[in-house]
Amino acid sequence: MRYHWNQGSLEVARNKVMRLLKQEKDPVKRDFYSKTIDAINQNIFLEYYKYEYKAKPFMNRVVDAANGQVGYNRFVNVICDIQSQVSKVYDEISDVASREDILAGMNPELFSFKRYTHDETVELTRKFYNGFDRELAKKFMKVYSDRYNSIKYVPNQKRNIFDTFDLSGYCVGIGGIGKNFMSIGNYEGIYKVGCTVHECGHAIKNLIVPEKTVSDGVDFIGEVESIFPEMIFYHEMGKDIDPFQSAYHMFGYSMIYYESASNVIFQKLIIDKWLQNNCKFDKSVYDSLKEDYNMTRSDVRESIGIDVTDEGPYVISFAIVMELLNLYKKDKDKALYLYKKLISIPPTEDPLVTLLKYENDLCGFEHLATEYSEISQEYKKQLIRKM
Ligand SMILES: [Zn+2]
Repeated sequence: MRYHWNQGSLEVARNKVMRLLKQEKDPVKRDFYSKTIDAINQNIFLEYYKYEYKAKPFMNRVVDAANGQVGYNRFVNVICDIQSQVSKVYDEISDVASREDILAGMNPELFSFKRYTHDETVELTRKFYNGFDRELAKKFMKVYSDRYNSIKYVPNQKRNIFDTFDLSGYCVGIGGIGKNFMSIGNYEGIYKVGCTVHECGHAIKNLIVPEKTVSDGVDFIGEVESIFPEMIFYHEMGKDIDPFQSAYHMFGYSMIYYESASNVIFQKLIIDKWLQNNCKFDKSVYDSLKEDYNMTRSDVRESIGIDVTDEGPYVISFAIVMELLNLYKKDKDKALYLYKKLISIPPTEDPLVTLLKYENDLCGFEHLATEYSEISQEYKKQLIRKM
């Protein structure tokens, strides 16, 4: 069997949703089905990232991010915290390997990655979810039984896996009919399995909360569902397969989030100034940014291009995942209980507001520094061993 879906599979899915729409009387469900059909018609699958992240007007999303999300400011503080903590770790590791070396895939000789076949990859993913949690494993089996029609592995064009994160795969759920479409980079090494674990995290969430699969808003905690299992995979399974690769991928993550956190902080400065000026991006906004932060017009333009809603979900989700990881090492059941709560938030609730209810259980994000430092120490240890 081939892991493959194509335009034909999408049309079959769309026709199924159309039939549901015809029979449906409830206006909320009708709206959900219509949005799903629109999304398929606009070919979100071919140009998913362009459509979702680039084509919408930037300013509307800034307003949503700054005004609509109650917990937003709280999280910007958390992000500032991540940035300063990671920068310490970052400095510490630079005596072992340069940033360029790490991002360029290190010395290729260090990376004699085993190539996993598609079947081996999906089997390792199954094995992982089986050991991870019983309830989630049941949901995973729905994805698994449809694996040949919902997963495809695509050749990767990128220079290295950390070029741009999560472009390494995507998962789009057609909630109304419980169907997922995943496209995953055909990488060497356990990163292929890690990516599959990640995308299946999205797919499982789509099955748990189907109404959320096609939504307009930015979900700032929407990567918890995928990054948490992925990190646990590298933390536990990766060590059995290849400790160096598992340490490398965890460290790669921490570097990426360090850089993203910086971008998000930069954006927040602009949003604040813009709100102070009654949402007008006129000369006075530029002038005050220049005066207070020494930002030039091109700095501002560049930072706007980065877009807080692109990177925000990854940075915030990663902060939450680090706390969950810390909890998982001490109390697996509690960590899994919290994780399942966070991935089951109904679309009627603001995820950030719900998250704040569990802030105490997540220890107010006090463990970021410890987790980061453990991750980078482990990487350093494995790197030296390998050399
Ligand atoms: Zn993701």
